Amino acid sequence: MRNLEALAGAESRDTGKPLRLARTLDIPRAVANLRFFATAVLHESSEAYQTDEHALNVTLRRPVGVAACISPWNLPLYLFTWKIAPALATGNCVVGKPSELTPMTAFRLGEIACEAGLPPGVLNIVHGAGAGAGAALVEHPGVDAISFTGGTRTGGLIGQAAARGFKKAALELGGKNPTLVFADADLDAVVPEVVRAAFSNQGQICLCGSRVLVEASRYDAFLERFTAAVRALRLGDPLDPETDQGSLVSAAHRDKVLSYVRLAEAEGGTLLCGGGRPAALPERCRDGFFLEPTVVTQLGPECRVNQEEVFGPLVSVIPFTDEREVLAWANGTTYGLSASVFTRALDRAHRLAERLESGTVWINCWLVRDLRVPFGGMKQSGIGRESIVETVLDMTEQKTIVVNEAL
Ligand code: NDP
Repeated sequence: MRNLEALAGAESRDTGKPLRLARTLDIPRAVANLRFFATAVLHESSEAYQTDEHALNVTLRRPVGVAACISPWNLPLYLFTWKIAPALATGNCVVGKPSELTPMTAFRLGEIACEAGLPPGVLNIVHGAGAGAGAALVEHPGVDAISFTGGTRTGGLIGQAAARGFKKAALELGGKNPTLVFADADLDAVVPEVVRAAFSNQGQICLCGSRVLVEASRYDAFLERFTAAVRALRLGDPLDPETDQGSLVSAAHRDKVLSYVRLAEAEGGTLLCGGGRPAALPERCRDGFFLEPTVVTQLGPECRVNQEEVFGPLVSVIPFTDEREVLAWANGTTYGLSASVFTRALDRAHRLAERLESGTVWINCWLVRDLRVPFGGMKQSGIGRESIVETVLDMTEQKTIVVNEAL
């Protein structure tokens, strides 16, 4: 990974995320995305059937033509490459639009693609704000397919534009993911994983577990350990290798998250920790958009804070009494992206995994995935799945050819 340091540094400066995270997660995963689809398409095959009428039926796949790939600011190069890699590997030309908030690594990727000898016009990177450049791109008659990751509202607009133009569209949208902790779970092992699920990338990952549902008999014990672990997170200069929590992406986003902290209080919630700007920050970070990791309790599952996607370092902890109740609460939002279940009882884990309305269910883990399995959301978390099978179908047109062998 020749460009690891330069790309990780750019990602950290653009987003405010810890450099350590960019170095260990964002950039290695971007490389893995490109390698994965480059080799996966080599194993693609077509179908052939012989019928009694002496007809040979064969399917072929052809690139759709031009794919528009639009990605968000939270995992910029990670998600940008996850979209452009399958589009390119299946033979399409790509017009990619990264978020205007975090354009640096996509810009650098364009330079790297030129250095690597990608022919001109194959990978085109357009910079500009979503409502302008993004909307124009999805409406453009020369675009045949759209691959979008971002918010549910934007996804709705893009879905409508795609329908008007009869374009294929894969939409990966928001989440309000539940983390279920049962009384039999080993809290020493589980709490660090729940903290990671809640606050990685300052809670700005679509898969972050922002609703933590804990079986009532261990609720107090869990809360004590959880808040202690959250308070121990080191918030500071993203370039410091010791930093766990960096800055949020922008002032506007920080203000949005803060408005949910105020809403949590207005809805009757109790803040156990966080909720404000950290007192001590290095001089270099004085104007950054920092917000302490925040834990709130006493909010019912129907409160807005437990229903709407906040996409920041704000987590609500809720006690439950039995499996039926926790399943209803876990499924009781308009989203269905992911869920995590922590329990030692594998029969229960499997039962819940089947019933949870989520594209991904993690049992005793979070954010672990072989790229070969499908990724995507149910309900308002998206349409379609990103995987070798589905994405190749999205990025290609199938054609059936029937040959009469008797003539
Ligand atoms: P947005 O939907 O605001 O933006 C996503 C991308 O779409 C950006 O490049 C943006 O450009 C562009 N865009 C905005 N408006 C339009 C439009 N009208 N037409 C075309 N493009 C447009 O999301 P955020 O950037 O705020 O990202 C956070 C959201 O993404 C969260 O909801 C999160 O859950 C979701 N997400 C989902 C993932 C998944 O896999 N399901 C993974 C990661 C995030 P610009 O920013 O330049 O305005």
